[in-house]
Amino acid sequence: MSEQAAELSAEDRALLEAARAVRAHAYAPYSQFPVGAAVRTERGVFTGVNVENASYPLGSCAERNAVAAAVAAGARRIEAVAVIADTAEPVRPCGGCRQVLHEFGPHARVILASVRGPLELTTLPALLPRAFESVRRPGQGRGAGSGAGG
Ligand SMILES: [Zn+2]
Repeated sequence: MSEQAAELSAEDRALLEAARAVRAHAYAPYSQFPVGAAVRTERGVFTGVNVENASYPLGSCAERNAVAAAVAAGARRIEAVAVIADTAEPVRPCGGCRQVLHEFGPHARVILASVRGPLELTTLPALLPRAFESVRRPGQGRGAGSGAGG
C-alpha cells in the first residue's frame, strides 16, 4: 500500500473498491485495457466500465459510463470519483472524461489508481483547469431551460 493510501477516508476506500470490483465487467476485447470507475454522488455510488465496440470510435470510457449511470438514477452532483486500471502509474482520465466529470463535479475529489498499487489523490480543477463552461450552464441564471437564443 502506498503512502497516499493512508490518506484515503473510509468513503474514499469504498469508492476505490467499487471501481476495482466493477472493472471485472469491462468490455475491452480490442484494447485489452479494462478500466473501472466509480462516482460518489448525493444519491450514492455509481459505477462504470469501458465498453468497446468493433467500430472503435463508438467505444465509451468507464468514467463517462459511471456518470451516465448516476445521472440516470437522478444524481446531479459528483463529490468524488475513483478510476483504476492496470498501469505503471495511476491511470488518468482522458480529456473528454475530465470535461464530462466537470459538468457534475467541478470540485470533485479524484482518486486515481492502478491495480499494481500506485495511487494518486487529486482534484478535478487540478486535472482540468479553466474548463469549458456553457453560457447556458444550469443554475447560472441565463438560458437554463428557456430554449431561447442560440
Ligand atoms: Zn475517457
